[in-house]
Amino acid sequence: MKCLHLLLLAVLLPVCGQGQAADATLQKLQAKIADDPYSEYLVTTLVNEVGPRFAGSDGYEHAVIWALQKLQAAGLKNVHAEPVILPRWVRGRSEVSLEVSSVDNVPLAAAAIGGSVGTDAQGIEAEVVRVESLDQLRQLTTAQVRGRIVFIDQRIQPSRDASTYVAAYPVRKYAPAEAGRKGAAAILIRSLSTAQDDVPHTGDLDYGDAPKIPALALSNVAADRLSAVVRAGGATVTIKLDTRELGAVYSAYVVADVPGQTDEIVLLGAHLDSWDITPGAEDDGAGVAIVTGAARAILRHAKKPKRTIRVVLYADEEFGEIGARAYADAHAAELGRHVLAMEADGGSGPVWRLDSKLPDVGAPFRLALLDALKPFGIADGSHDGGGGSDIKPLMMQGVPVLGPRQDMSRYFDVHHSAADTLDHLDRAGLRQNVAVYASAAWLAANWPGSLGRLPPTMP
Ligand SMILES: [Zn+2]
Repeated sequence: MKCLHLLLLAVLLPVCGQGQAADATLQKLQAKIADDPYSEYLVTTLVNEVGPRFAGSDGYEHAVIWALQKLQAAGLKNVHAEPVILPRWVRGRSEVSLEVSSVDNVPLAAAAIGGSVGTDAQGIEAEVVRVESLDQLRQLTTAQVRGRIVFIDQRIQPSRDASTYVAAYPVRKYAPAEAGRKGAAAILIRSLSTAQDDVPHTGDLDYGDAPKIPALALSNVAADRLSAVVRAGGATVTIKLDTRELGAVYSAYVVADVPGQTDEIVLLGAHLDSWDITPGAEDDGAGVAIVTGAARAILRHAKKPKRTIRVVLYADEEFGEIGARAYADAHAAELGRHVLAMEADGGSGPVWRLDSKLPDVGAPFRLALLDALKPFGIADGSHDGGGGSDIKPLMMQGVPVLGPRQDMSRYFDVHHSAADTLDHLDRAGLRQNVAVYASAAWLAANWPGSLGRLPPTMP
């Protein structure tokens, strides 16, 4: 930050010297982080030592212990687990095969969508009805769907801002209910994947009050094969799916602090859980490494901040966002002291835009942060964005949020799939993210004025 800019911020930063100190600390943080492989180390140990960590699974319990150890080793204080009760859903085996007259049935690579009901031991064999969108499914009559297997053949294209995924995810989330209401026997969707490979991608679904039918996602290669056969005159598919819901599990999410001089809190969140079929390097090993790396860098390279910087590694972002609600409930009495929240859940691609949701009084802070982030070429983004699913309950209760938007052009190649492995990480991008989150957290924690409160919204 230059003194000239401070003239604009004269009310909040009256002394040029303070700004220079802030400037020097931010530069030091950014330089130290650029040289530090800690974030790569952290995500590597999470993937290699823990691996898949689906909420409620043994892998997740292992991740909690891993997180407590790593946060302690990073020097954070007040490292502890807080209780949460998680659901337990297991997929068992997912088998989809396509009947082809000339050969034996062709197996199609598929994964149950999270929360899907299973089939009985014989499975379901039915004719396929193909549509290209959720809207097309809505236009079909019950007679066209009843007893058949719906196939939604909608391909997504890459986008830096994830807009193509955001536009398409209702196919995964809500089409199972739509097909169930029309009497379908089961539903297959083309995975929300931007990779042309044979790896299926899972995710969540919402049956609402519709009849529950088995729901699976096909790899792009499998979807191409099925699509070709259906269009050539029709296809019959057999599905055997062994999913089950087990009882609730008493579990935890993890909290740790860089202690400040006051009881106000700047929160950095990421989710510790992953889907069951993936080691979760990008989703959300990268986020865990970004927020932990940012807090650790501040601890090592900056003076004790004015406000506490808190890291929360949430439980169960993927299968119900239960950890997000649990944290907001457990800390309801101190949410008024949470001055800002940020979440990292977009992989390791570099930040290219800063979204935010700040009251007007927070605008000088946003401008100062954009100034601090100039070396990274980060543009100002939406002023009505920035919340992710784990910090949404805080935002709804008035906590301002920042959303550094990462380049997600290649994120959906691997998202929620077995392909989300370490080789996919953008290592330079990961360090840039750590620097961005550390800069934002440090500046917010030491901002001389208030960042204000958002108007609370009802759920
Ligand atoms: Zn995620």
